[in-house]
Amino acid sequence: MRERAKECLSRAHALLSAGDEASIRYACLEICLALELLCYEKLEAFIVDLPIEKASSWRPKDVMAAILELDPDAEQDMKVTFWKDDEGGLPGPEITLGEYKTFGGKWANKAHNTLSSFLHAPTLDDNRNGRAPNPIAKKRSIEDIYEKLLCIASSNITSVRYSPSIVNFECSECHAKIKRKDAGLIHHKSVECFKCKALYLVERTGDGVYFTLKEAGFRCVSCGGLNVVGQHMLKHGKEISCNKCSFKNTIVRSWAVLAKR
Ligand SMILES: [Zn+2]
Ligand SMILES: [Zn+2]
Repeated sequence: MRERAKECLSRAHALLSAGDEASIRYACLEICLALELLCYEKLEAFIVDLPIEKASSWRPKDVMAAILELDPDAEQDMKVTFWKDDEGGLPGPEITLGEYKTFGGKWANKAHNTLSSFLHAPTLDDNRNGRAPNPIAKKRSIEDIYEKLLCIASSNITSVRYSPSIVNFECSECHAKIKRKDAGLIHHKSVECFKCKALYLVERTGDGVYFTLKEAGFRCVSCGGLNVVGQHMLKHGKEISCNKCSFKNTIVRSWAVLAKR
């Protein structure tokens, strides 16, 4: 994928150099493809820990969010070095393997939106209000994205994965395996099942990490029995069968009026 990303960037370079509006627009397409290819390259390194459904997600924002859940350091540039301890147990000379360059999720999302804005015809409203995206006026921003991606594609290490301590448990709702880097859980109050979107509260105690499904309760409109379901099930229009009488209850969002304080 990296080689294909480099080919896209090479074509983008020629198009940006031409400098006319049509060429810059085509350059945006090539840069956008390079960004997506580099995103998929990252995804590949993490795919064993993600459900296969995630692999069909194409938006850089989704890809990076999934990766960061597994490894909060995944958007850091790194220099990879190692050394061998000498006979006395002291570190020997450092050997540098190379550099790993990457982008953050926010940057990738913004870059993707910027590039995509030039790949569609302006709407009638855009034309009327003089808001039609102009690739020539934004050339500097497009070049900045190109340069960052070129720097990433040229770094000699394509992915870095430590073998961190991984915590895993089975989702009680869909039985998928949920895996997270132990150290990363310090930053999260909850984790989401990638497959069914069930949310679990994270609680860290002296003897380990515990996950509790976020639940919500409602009374069946037919028999009045209490039903407790995962909070992720509460979506407007969703039908949930009562666990006592099997009546199909429909979840609806409702409006409320509150006194302003
Ligand atoms: Zn699940
Ligand atoms: Zn019922």
